[in-house]
Amino acid sequence: MLPISEIFVSLQGEGPFSGRRALFIRFFGCNLRCSWCDTKYSYYGKPKILEELDVFDDFIILTGGEPTLYQDILKNFLTRAKSKGSEILVETNGTVVLKDTFVDYVDYFSISPKLSNAGVKYRVEVLKKNVEKLTNKDKFYYLKFPVMWEDDINEVKKMVEYLGVEKRQVWLQPIDNRRIDYWWDIAVKAGYNLSIQLHKFVSKP
Ligand code: SF4
Repeated sequence: MLPISEIFVSLQGEGPFSGRRALFIRFFGCNLRCSWCDTKYSYYGKPKILEELDVFDDFIILTGGEPTLYQDILKNFLTRAKSKGSEILVETNGTVVLKDTFVDYVDYFSISPKLSNAGVKYRVEVLKKNVEKLTNKDKFYYLKFPVMWEDDINEVKKMVEYLGVEKRQVWLQPIDNRRIDYWWDIAVKAGYNLSIQLHKFVSKP
């Protein structure tokens, strides 16, 4: 049984795949409660419960909520999607331990670590183990940090150093697309990338 919030086709608005058409499957439920979360509807209210997913596309994005809460029950769908040639991207907050049996079916991981601006207790030790696993398996992954306040960049730098990831894998993403000019310069100086939430320019969630 898979709890689903919504399924739709749109364009990816964030990170290195920005502008790419994709089938989005948004799962219901999340283990965090970020203060600025813009998809609260994915854990409040009622999910659609599906026996199995039967929708496929060239590029499929599993998002949420937190899709890694459902790693075991996604195996059948992922097997079928891969046999049809789909590329799979998973968007995760990084705090659920990733299983080998899940990771092996996924092409790309977009991990969004939370800073103190989110107001949640963030399990950075679990993230570190996940990052090590993805690195050892030579998976394509990147870290996308939602940033808001000027001091956030110091938190980002500390976490990047602790995790031992390369700068080219780091994306700053200003919350609500505010102060883009400011974060543009900060990203360039720090050696990071910048993600502007493209979908919000056209009022999409
Ligand atoms: S991890 Fe993502 S979906 Fe969960 S509360 Fe935070 S922003 Fe929302």
